[in-house]
Amino acid sequence: MVLSDAVSVLKGVGPALAEKLGYLGVHTVRDLIYFFPRRYDDFSHLTQLKDVQPGPITVKVRVESVTARHVRRGLHITEAIIADDTSKLRATWFNQPYRPESLKNGKEFYMSGTFDFQRDRFVLQNPAVEQVKEFAKNTARIVPIYRQTEGFKSHQVRPMIEQLLPLIKKLREPLPPEIVREQELVPLSEALAQIHFPDSSESLERAKKRLAFDEVFELLLAAQLNKLEHQTHDSWQIAYKQEAADVLTQALPFALTNAQRRATWEILQDMQGGRPMNRLLQGDVGSGKTAVAAFAGFMAHANGMQTAFMAPTEVLATQHAEGLAKLLEPLGVRVGLLVGSVKSKPREALLKHIKEGQVDMVVGTHALIQSPIEFAKLGFVVIDEQHRFGVNQRAALLAKSSRMPHLLAMTATPIPRSLGLTLYGELDVSILDERPPGRTPIITEIHSPHSREPLYKAIDAQITAGRQVYIICPLVSDSDTLGFKSVEVEHAHLAKTVFKHRRIGLLHGKLTSAQKDQVMKEFQAGAIDILVATTVVEVGVDVPNATIILIEGAERFGLAQLHQLRGRVGRGMHQSYCYIVPSTAQKPSRRLQEIVKSDDGFYLAEVDLQIRGPGELYGTRQHGELNLRVANITDTKLISHIQKIAEQFAGRAADLLQYPELQQRVDNARRRTTFN
Ligand code: ADP
Ligand code: MG
Repeated sequence: MVLSDAVSVLKGVGPALAEKLGYLGVHTVRDLIYFFPRRYDDFSHLTQLKDVQPGPITVKVRVESVTARHVRRGLHITEAIIADDTSKLRATWFNQPYRPESLKNGKEFYMSGTFDFQRDRFVLQNPAVEQVKEFAKNTARIVPIYRQTEGFKSHQVRPMIEQLLPLIKKLREPLPPEIVREQELVPLSEALAQIHFPDSSESLERAKKRLAFDEVFELLLAAQLNKLEHQTHDSWQIAYKQEAADVLTQALPFALTNAQRRATWEILQDMQGGRPMNRLLQGDVGSGKTAVAAFAGFMAHANGMQTAFMAPTEVLATQHAEGLAKLLEPLGVRVGLLVGSVKSKPREALLKHIKEGQVDMVVGTHALIQSPIEFAKLGFVVIDEQHRFGVNQRAALLAKSSRMPHLLAMTATPIPRSLGLTLYGELDVSILDERPPGRTPIITEIHSPHSREPLYKAIDAQITAGRQVYIICPLVSDSDTLGFKSVEVEHAHLAKTVFKHRRIGLLHGKLTSAQKDQVMKEFQAGAIDILVATTVVEVGVDVPNATIILIEGAERFGLAQLHQLRGRVGRGMHQSYCYIVPSTAQKPSRRLQEIVKSDDGFYLAEVDLQIRGPGELYGTRQHGELNLRVANITDTKLISHIQKIAEQFAGRAADLLQYPELQQRVDNARRRTTFN
């Protein structure tokens, strides 16, 4: 038997069972070995019959007598008197017609089950039974409990794993011996045997520690190798020019925060080398990421290089283009805007200018790197509000430039460090952990769904004062099953009742992007008082005149999301408010309490990760690699520790050749994390 064999090579695994395993993602012997128990029942402690107490017990007994009968249709009962040297007890099994036969051989048995009151007396109910001489799988040990599905039970897995134990014991050690030694890890084969059939809770812990290490190490090493590979490309040298830095510093309407200065410095350092920068700029809403990017773009310009600035929506791109033009055009930087709505003649002219180098900074949507646009000398690419960018985008970029441009991604949401490392291990990270001074904090309050009246009054007063308002609902259309508010129904309702004298707009993801842009433009221009929207407004939209955001069905949103939504207000000089309205009047969840307490995006992201787990947060589908099975994604200490080891080891990448097993695992991880 080898790891790549199909599970059907195992005794007792016919086509039906193989199919059920397939549903669980288990196709090969290797998959099965890595199909770890979800939990364990500790039946390892043997109790003498004289000492039994109600609850789960394991006993070692002889069977003195067995009776079996059909009580009524569909109910078969087996009863046995079991004994050890100290006492006797009654045990019962329901609907196990084969049971009496298996008990009648005069052997000793382990029985694990619950000792409980049944009708008029205490009995051992439905215990698992094994003969003492066999390898105990179901009794008298820490018993593994596996994920089950319809018609597929945990106990069916155990004999399969038992058959695999000899193979597991022969598995070679993939890790370099010094790592195993220094990290005090048990050998992989031992860990895999013990994760299924632990000898003790201590050895189970050791097995988990080992497997968690492997899991994270392979992932982070893969990221490090991707990073090193990326570093083999040539890039442009963008020299730091003091004069340019001075000119821009003078031109900025504010002084950079310390965090902005640090991040700018890190970026400019990267761009000076001949290797392509690959950096993530993380900063809370309003921390001033754009100014940092503008600084780097200006330095690229001072070195005769073009910058491409990519935003996720037309609205955002337009916003950025306007802001950047205002700041940089007086300094001689020609800014262009390339979005879908720029058509025919002007578009052709713009493309020509980009190609001939008469435009220095091009702002646009994804189309910037996808469409057949040619740059004269593209040196720097900024990707705003993107969680990640991948090899495809890099390849597209490379095709636009004879050398790999420097890349700066800016995230919409702060990401906890542990998650950041596993998700973006191949990126360098700069963090803006400080906000520009002089902001009035947003007032955040939770309100009962039964008292919207005062909120609507407050909204109306703000509109009278010339301000604008967001109302957020979780759904696009009403759904009977969920009972949450939808933008369509809420929009229609408000427009007919409380706010019939106001201009109300509707925005959701099912509109075409042209429709969405139209609505956003109107809102930005002040032609809409209230925007009823789904979370599509979450990303980066900047309407400084908006001062209230009311979030309906708030319990439907994650913390990071609520924080992003809240960041839509408080962007101007007016006091702003975030009203959080859950759909029921129950005590608010921890999440909602946290959002009221804190406005620190990094802190909230950590809490969100703890509460919801990574999949919920970032969408598991794209992030298969986040399905850590053993390691805990919130274990920042462990993940940071392993990151150091992976970095060191990646530095001696040639060594990897000596460890073909590890190489293969890491290659798999690289394939998994190579997003496209
Ligand atoms: P985000 O990080 O969310 O993208 P922006 O770059 O949009 O933040 O900046 C938010 C606002 O803060 C903008 O209006 C910007 O002009 C302003 N800003 C940025 N940096 C500073 C600073 N150092 N001092 C004062 N205001 C700043
Ligand atoms: Mg931004």
